[in-house]
Amino acid sequence: MKTARVERVKTTRSRHGGKQPCLRPAASSAQKEYLNYDEGQYVTFDDLEGPRTVLVGETLFSSDGGTFVAVAECTCLSCEPTWCSWAGKDVVVKCHNTMDHTRIPGEYLIDFVREYAEDSSGEEWALAHLPLVLEKLGNRDFRGRLMRITIYERLYPISDLVDPREIAQVFYDILQIHQWLFDHPGILHRDINLDNIMFRRIDGDVYGVLNDFDLACRVNPSWNLEDGPSPNGCTGTKPFMAHDLLSTDQKRHMPRHDMESLFYAMLILICCYQRPGLMVAEPMPFLNWFNGTECEVHDAKLDFILRPINLPVQPHFCGFRAWIRELYSWLHRGHTEGRQHDDLCECRDRVDTNVDQDTEDSNNSTSDTEDVDDSEEENVPFNWYTLNGEFSYERMKFLMSFFQARELETRS
Ligand SMILES: [Zn+2]
Repeated sequence: MKTARVERVKTTRSRHGGKQPCLRPAASSAQKEYLNYDEGQYVTFDDLEGPRTVLVGETLFSSDGGTFVAVAECTCLSCEPTWCSWAGKDVVVKCHNTMDHTRIPGEYLIDFVREYAEDSSGEEWALAHLPLVLEKLGNRDFRGRLMRITIYERLYPISDLVDPREIAQVFYDILQIHQWLFDHPGILHRDINLDNIMFRRIDGDVYGVLNDFDLACRVNPSWNLEDGPSPNGCTGTKPFMAHDLLSTDQKRHMPRHDMESLFYAMLILICCYQRPGLMVAEPMPFLNWFNGTECEVHDAKLDFILRPINLPVQPHFCGFRAWIRELYSWLHRGHTEGRQHDDLCECRDRVDTNVDQDTEDSNNSTSDTEDVDDSEEENVPFNWYTLNGEFSYERMKFLMSFFQARELETRS
């Protein structure tokens, strides 16, 4: 039996500016010890501008589970007294320890898609929604562990935003950049979750940024990087993963799975937080999506999708109710119809098999299948790629281009 591959299930200590509680368990003391050791460490390296030294500061994020990831603030010490191109930029250092050496590192994918946007006429808008890699330091020994070290421009978590309209713009931007990545450079992100939905400000305006390409994969064979992981692999962060990726029979990761993840990210934000930074009192909605096994989370999500409940949207986020209700109805309808269709097919196959058997037994050349309606309409296969049209980029973009009856920024 093939099982869905969950390559990273995060247990996060996420400070989010020091005010953001997190649904996941805190990092173990061993991790904390490791991270505290790194704080205050100097890292020196050569880049195009000459030798540069950065000072590692406060840890902003860490996770462990198959892959160890930590992100810390860092300060470029080469900005003064000499000028440096990082001057005025907030930067972070990401330490990343993965056992999987077949995967294209996320920072290379980010460089690839940024170059694609820069080189393509009319696609420059995408740059505002992509992370920026400042330096790839490769593998370095940090306290006896081989870590991949990368320096990025600092991005900010969506939980730093308070204005629902700005939050809505970030979610809408994530959808737009996700589609662009898939349709243009041919990249499927595969790990939409609240920690990867970030933003930056440009001239005061908020731009959603889809962060962390460590689980992303190529979907278009025409590009020239080494072969990445199979686009058919199923992956993600468990509480945000599409429910059918958590089942044993789903083998292909599709764009609509990431759209379902975007739905869960919105749902969890608006139901589990009274306002950004303040979680609702217990019992926490959807807590079993975080704590359960893959199988339990699959069953819980399937039950959630098939049996409508009153969604506990918090008053601060009431503007999101229309989006969430609509997206939920697509999921509910798509999966209900898909299951009915599959059940019917299975039933028809069974009858056909029985009929074949009967036919053989009786040596009768005509088979009687009148009990099963073989009308043309019912022979059309269910389109699981879009849940029979319920989930498409265009449909979701149309819905999310308006928030509380006012248009949001459409970027392309
Ligand atoms: Zn500098």
